[in-house]
Amino acid sequence: MSFAQANGKKGTASPKIADHGEKSCPSARAEPGALLIGVVGADGLVQPIPTRLEIDEDFVEQASKSGVPEARFRFGGRCVEGKCKQWTGNSCGVIEKVLTGMADQNIAPAENLPRCIIRGTCRWYSQRGADTCRACIYVVTDQSALVAHA
Ligand code: SF4
Repeated sequence: MSFAQANGKKGTASPKIADHGEKSCPSARAEPGALLIGVVGADGLVQPIPTRLEIDEDFVEQASKSGVPEARFRFGGRCVEGKCKQWTGNSCGVIEKVLTGMADQNIAPAENLPRCIIRGTCRWYSQRGADTCRACIYVVTDQSALVAHA
């Protein structure tokens, strides 16, 4: 697998990454230009990746050989708001359902906030703050119909 050269220059960021005040989707598809933000561990919990890694076509191709990448990795992309069917009109419905589901099932939130490279722009964090980060390790994109993007 390989990663594209991370390009931090203003105005030249990947079109898949939030820029110019946009928010990041923390449960995005595996697409060239997205950021790899976590790996699903053997225990089913997401291990965050604290380094900025932009995936490329080769990564997507290689990762797809072993199944759906979104079942084993978490990716950060651009929040497209109303162009996503999870958008409620003013917020992301995914994390609200995750938080409700955790409460219903008495799933204990993580004690500490994971290290995260997209916290500054994260849609979920901007919406519900640290509670979302304590729930984030439980979110596997492909295991939930809640995150079926438009
Ligand atoms: S919810 Fe928190 S830990 Fe998860 S991607 Fe957003 S900022 Fe990072």
